[in-house]
Amino acid sequence: MMAKNVVRVGNVEIMALSDGTLEFDLCNFFPTIPNDRWRPYESDLTEEHKVRFNLGSYLIRSDGRTILIDTGLGPKPHDAPDAPWGRLLHDFEAHGVRLDEVDAVVMTHLHRDHVGWNVLPRGETYVPTFPNARYWMSAKDWEVCHQPEIQPERFPNAPTCVWPLAELGLVELMHGEHHITRELTALPTPGHTPGHVSILITSQGERALVLGDVAHSPVQVREPDWVSRADMDPELTRQTRRALVERLEREAILVAAGHFQAPGFGRVVRLDGRRYWRGLGEGAGA
Ligand SMILES: [Zn+2]
Repeated sequence: MMAKNVVRVGNVEIMALSDGTLEFDLCNFFPTIPNDRWRPYESDLTEEHKVRFNLGSYLIRSDGRTILIDTGLGPKPHDAPDAPWGRLLHDFEAHGVRLDEVDAVVMTHLHRDHVGWNVLPRGETYVPTFPNARYWMSAKDWEVCHQPEIQPERFPNAPTCVWPLAELGLVELMHGEHHITRELTALPTPGHTPGHVSILITSQGERALVLGDVAHSPVQVREPDWVSRADMDPELTRQTRRALVERLEREAILVAAGHFQAPGFGRVVRLDGRRYWRGLGEGAGA
């Protein structure tokens, strides 16, 4: 059964949408974690012993505004018609959401699987996929995705998915902690990228956090020191993750985790002295 893809946090509605999934070999995505360390976590892997990541976006309705967090990996390449991703616009349609309803796109960071549907090529130029949106990103990631020694490896699709936003006059930069609406705040959670942010939602005394890539797998709730190839600053990634996971448990904040199994809603809980991820709707001990 599909888990429910809409939750309410006070007056705010969060709808989970997805661009599909991506899979990686463990040795590719977690090159520093020996294979035997995965033994307790077999159930988090695919049958082929790979990690599978949802490409989650969250559509948030807050304070009369419609905000899209992250835009997936983008259109399927013509030479990979069977790619299990490239579905975000279909998911909008399936859930009855029009692209012109989005008035702000907020990117947790500028890696390729979070910016893919920002714009669409049209002839020699680009048009915004979300025609009424301004596009918000951290000033730090905007700067670093232009550094020639970093961009090709770390931000490979920035030239076609991020930079064109400047020519279109749609770029909005966030400096440090940034209030998006009265109920939504972008919190710096650096490490995975220098300017990575998570989005805190506070309404009517309830709270939720759109995690971004502070963790890619529920396993990292239990093993917060496991960094991946995608984490640009390993030690800062660990510090940020440890502190955030601890806070999420202590304050019982609902989490929306875009790379966890869709829809990615859940909580950090403690059982027998260790922290676990519990998906929303899963029973105690799950
Ligand atoms: Zn990602």
